[in-house]
Amino acid sequence: MDNVRTRFAPSPTGYLHIGGLRTALYAYLFAKKNNGKFILRIEDTDLERYVDGAVEIIYSTMREAGLNWDEGPDVGRDYGPYIQTERKDIYLKYAQILVEQGDAYYCFCTKERLEEIHKNGATKYDKHCLSLSKEEIQRRIDAGEKYVIRQNIPEEGATTYHDLVFGDITVENKDLEDNVLIKSDGMPTYNFANVIDDHLMNITYVIRGVEYLSSTPKYNLLYKAFGWDLPNYMHLQPIMRDATHKLSKRHGDASYEDFIKKGYLKDAIVNYIALLGWSPKDNREKFTLEEMVELFSVDGLSKSQSIFDETKMRWLNSCYIKDLTDEQFYEYALPFYEKVEYLKGYDLKFLSTLLKNRCEIFSDIEKLTQFMVEFDGYDLNLLCNAKWKTDQALAKQMLPDLIQLCEENFDGLHDGLVAYAERAGYKKGQVLWVFRIAITGAQNTPGGATEMAELFGKEEVIRRLNDTFNRL
Ligand code: GLU
Repeated sequence: MDNVRTRFAPSPTGYLHIGGLRTALYAYLFAKKNNGKFILRIEDTDLERYVDGAVEIIYSTMREAGLNWDEGPDVGRDYGPYIQTERKDIYLKYAQILVEQGDAYYCFCTKERLEEIHKNGATKYDKHCLSLSKEEIQRRIDAGEKYVIRQNIPEEGATTYHDLVFGDITVENKDLEDNVLIKSDGMPTYNFANVIDDHLMNITYVIRGVEYLSSTPKYNLLYKAFGWDLPNYMHLQPIMRDATHKLSKRHGDASYEDFIKKGYLKDAIVNYIALLGWSPKDNREKFTLEEMVELFSVDGLSKSQSIFDETKMRWLNSCYIKDLTDEQFYEYALPFYEKVEYLKGYDLKFLSTLLKNRCEIFSDIEKLTQFMVEFDGYDLNLLCNAKWKTDQALAKQMLPDLIQLCEENFDGLHDGLVAYAERAGYKKGQVLWVFRIAITGAQNTPGGATEMAELFGKEEVIRRLNDTFNRL
């Protein structure tokens, strides 16, 4: 495909939500797959919704996720500026062209009048100002009256276009409203700016949320009025929290940053997000960003909504964690270790080797190591194991020998326990079970008996064995 140019056009209204990141990802993948360009454009013309710092979050999240843009506010200026408020004059100029052609008109209606017509049952603006004479318009502008510029939508006919995901979409023109293109503060609305910018930035594929599917005919009428070619469109279904609710930060759903804070790896997040609305032909589920670029295709995009499933995302993250080296695991885990007071003083590099196969996300560390401080007064019934036929009496019998073994040769503990089992006529599993429970007080531990012993160290192991013995 020649000259593919896609864009991600977020509004800086806060965090970058998961749905937004997915749109960015698909636009990135489609561009890269086709050797095209991926453009970042900041749509900040809604001054009331502007949130300080939001642009920086967009930049940092996208960069962290590897979605580097070829053109954008701070890279490549061929089609810039890439921040809409810096393009204010451009929109005004094009709006005036439309006014001259009769495809747009000045509107002086007050908020009160608009409320009034809606109260009287109108579902859309009634074209009241369309009939104003040129002289009257000029007089009112000169008198300093506030005005907007509205699109003049034909009252008859229908507008059809082809969406690459949803197929042909037709909307009756009578169902479309004469939207505001330029607001009274001189800023364009999204409805206008997206068309002007997508055309001037030579965007060939518009990839965005499905909420724009039915307003796209309105935008296409603008392209037609200017005599411009339409871009190709791909609208994406939303990501849902459950069957009826969209994923939304406002309702407590996590954002990219929240997932990072919870201890997800960025590659796993991006990988999981890719699967929310797209699947490759071979149904593979784990891939790097480069592999996704290779595999991405429009036929893999889903027409139905996808449900965000954190259990699945945890599983995928655990696969990424297993692929880390022990050293990498330790590095990623470090900030999480630091949050757990009782882990101070332990050999965290060694602990990392044990946790790597058990941790789904890094914030599991606390839960997985909690047994280390919950030893006192643990339930002695854990010493009873049906499979190994162990019980408290057997443990009481074994423990003095186990203590002695540790005192005499802690470094050769594993072999010592095996030899002891043979010598005393126990099964190896019986000895290891009793030993592990007696030093951890927990049914599930990140490592086996001798690994746990190594983690605690000789002195603490002997203290714990004695403690268990004394309670029996
Ligand atoms: N600024 C719009 C939004 O954040 C972008 C829609 C589009 O991609 O055209 O929803």
